[in-house]
Amino acid sequence: MTARIIDGNALSARVRGEIAERAAALTALGVQPCLAVMLVGADPASAVYVRNKVAGCEKAGIRSLRFDYPETATQAEVMAKLAELNADPAVHGILVQLPLPKHLDETAVLEAIDLKKDVDGFHAENVGRLSQCREAFIPCTPHGVMKMLESSGTPVQGAEAVVIGRSNIVGKPMATLLTNAGATVTVCHSRTKDLAFHTRRADILVAAIGKPRFVTGDMIKPGATVIDVGINRLQDGPDAGKLCGDVDFESAREVAGAITPVPGGVGPMTITMLLENTVISAERAASDRKLA
Ligand code: NDP
Repeated sequence: MTARIIDGNALSARVRGEIAERAAALTALGVQPCLAVMLVGADPASAVYVRNKVAGCEKAGIRSLRFDYPETATQAEVMAKLAELNADPAVHGILVQLPLPKHLDETAVLEAIDLKKDVDGFHAENVGRLSQCREAFIPCTPHGVMKMLESSGTPVQGAEAVVIGRSNIVGKPMATLLTNAGATVTVCHSRTKDLAFHTRRADILVAAIGKPRFVTGDMIKPGATVIDVGINRLQDGPDAGKLCGDVDFESAREVAGAITPVPGGVGPMTITMLLENTVISAERAASDRKLA
């Protein structure tokens, strides 16, 4: 059996078309959605992510503002810019690209973003609201994964779902969303004993580890839907310099029922959900304006 490919580029294009229509409708009302992106330091991967996010905005008719700070930026400088962006009614979404340089207090920075503009969904109150199934901004990567499961016709309710990774930005919110959607969820991490025992039970397997080609075909239940969140650049071997996921695509596709590729899988959907959150925030601002 060879797995069906869940094409993140195709799904993204479709969803971004709808987002562009919503953005155009808002702009016609005089409320052009606007995302402010802050980048601190010179991490090359972060610079690429920020560039892609800004380009995604432009194509969807969303205004973007970019604020680049040097590695040496102080906490006070970053906080002052956030206060300014929070107070600006023309800004609907604020994103601080992670990771921040070590000397900055990441938690304090994320908590300083106005809840209504927290389009990454990393503010502790958004995290809490999500876990209580209340209205919240849903973190973009796991939200994109849920859309991919839906588009691929993968049943979630009652499914055995295994998430490898427990980070705040991917693993944990992923587990929350799958739980909220009715899956039976197991979260695995570096301390998990016998990882393959868990992964082989999974109808839905989400890999968010950060280790190239870590999950191999023999760790996958036949017919499972495999979602590869990982983005790794290979350092050596014949594929040096190329991007790959946390799943060994070649062996996994022989066993899985459906699988996401890297690149062209979860990555484009992450940006798509960021654009959607920005439009949602602008829609709320427009409706608040009407009510005022
Ligand atoms: P983190 O490094 O924050 O988390 C990695 C997780 O993997 C940790 O929970 C860690 O466990 C676990 N882990 C590490 N080694 C093992 C192991 N041997 N066995 C089992 N679990 C292990 O990474 P992120 O969550 O931020 O990102 C994960 C991957 O997803 C990366 O490749 C990243 O580049 C990619 N990514 C992709 C995005 C996209 O848009 N497609 C967006 C965000 C991230 P422990 O907690 O015990 O240390």
